[in-house]
Amino acid sequence: SIRVRFAPSPTGLFHVGGARSALFNWVMAKQSGGTLVLRIEDTDASRNSPAWTEGIIRALAWLGMDGGEYEGPYFQSANADKHAGAARALLGAGRAYYCDCTREDVIARSGDQHRGYDGFCRDRGLQPGPGRALRFRTPDEGQTTVVDLLRGKPVFENAVLEDFVIARADGSVTFLLANAVDDISQGITHVVRGEEHLSNAPKQQLLWEALGAEPPVWAHVPVIVNEKRQKLSKRRDKVALEDYQAEGYLAEAMRNYLMLLGWAPSGDREIVPWEVIVEEFRIEDVNTSPAFFDVKKLRAINGEYVRALPPERFEAECLPFLEDAPFPVDRGVFAQLAPLAQTRVAVLSEIVPMVDFAFLDEPPFDEQSWNKGMKGPAAEILAAAEEAYRDAPWEAGELKDRLERVGTEHGLKLGKTQAPVRVAVTGRTVGLPLFESLEVLGRERTLARLAAARE
Ligand code: GLU
Repeated sequence: SIRVRFAPSPTGLFHVGGARSALFNWVMAKQSGGTLVLRIEDTDASRNSPAWTEGIIRALAWLGMDGGEYEGPYFQSANADKHAGAARALLGAGRAYYCDCTREDVIARSGDQHRGYDGFCRDRGLQPGPGRALRFRTPDEGQTTVVDLLRGKPVFENAVLEDFVIARADGSVTFLLANAVDDISQGITHVVRGEEHLSNAPKQQLLWEALGAEPPVWAHVPVIVNEKRQKLSKRRDKVALEDYQAEGYLAEAMRNYLMLLGWAPSGDREIVPWEVIVEEFRIEDVNTSPAFFDVKKLRAINGEYVRALPPERFEAECLPFLEDAPFPVDRGVFAQLAPLAQTRVAVLSEIVPMVDFAFLDEPPFDEQSWNKGMKGPAAEILAAAEEAYRDAPWEAGELKDRLERVGTEHGLKLGKTQAPVRVAVTGRTVGLPLFESLEVLGRERTLARLAAARE
């Protein structure tokens, strides 16, 4: 059965592209009864941190991949002996050689910044020593054909594959070797990863072969781009899964959306239950064209998932956002508002400005809303509403009828009549259904706010 792996480098927040790779691997393992291995590639000591590793593990768990779903985590740094052993074996077999060329030397010889290594030290028989790196001797002739489930069989001319470094002058091994050695020793059968690694595949496949292993099947999934068709980058775009989580995206929605980055389920659907995804996903069907990370679509999908939550769960999911809000929340009052909000929230953090009016002593003040809502005969409407509500049975339908009558007296439709009342009471021009909100807020506070708004 298949063994796939997710092999992140813990050098920052967890990128949505990494999350997609993890999900693709996970689903492949699940649907075939195979195994997903989690390997933390923590060999770049200057950029790693245990905090990033913990963040990755936590984010995976959030998406549904808790410790029971994968083998590991293994840490690449723990395999240093194996990596060094592989480097020695390649040297011993004549597949690698020491090289003391600097970059400047190479450029001076070729006159070209971009040309690869020219093989200068291939036959110099250098012994190990300071300033000497170990290079892999790529074949001069023939071709390396990798089997890529998305791309057929890309063919690479060996003559253009440079003799790449496998161990640096300080003895540390490079990504190309460490990654191949770990994949081999962890019995990986399918390497599913981002397209940015496609050019590494022939080099790594040569390493697999030189180390006596049967090469894996590869699948390089497409790059993710923003609306300007630029590769998603952490400087430019919001890429951290943690940020989406903090904003109130649901794990189920995020997981569903990430699977659509390069793949489409049957029937033009976008909202697909996880079981169906696991059943339908085929890595071979993943597209090779860049996948657009469409935040609007993600938002819409999240909204659908939010609406589908059982009401108690919606309430519970909102609470952490309300706990962080700068006002105390009365749970009983929130329980009354939550059903009104559930259909109107696309991302959970939006709950805060939607219900704050009920928990603040005074409605929040937003100048723009105020200017917009308090136009025309606003003061008269507020006075008339106050009057009409003073002895009204406190129930949404009745409150609506009474305001409608106020409007008629002023020759206004309900929408126009509502506007100043809404701003006076909630501080905003848009929000939850007004009359239900008034019902929850209560007579006393409603009347006080209507009066205060006229001052
Ligand atoms: N650590 C590499 C990365 O995060 C893994 C590449 C691979 O999956 O082979 O890009």
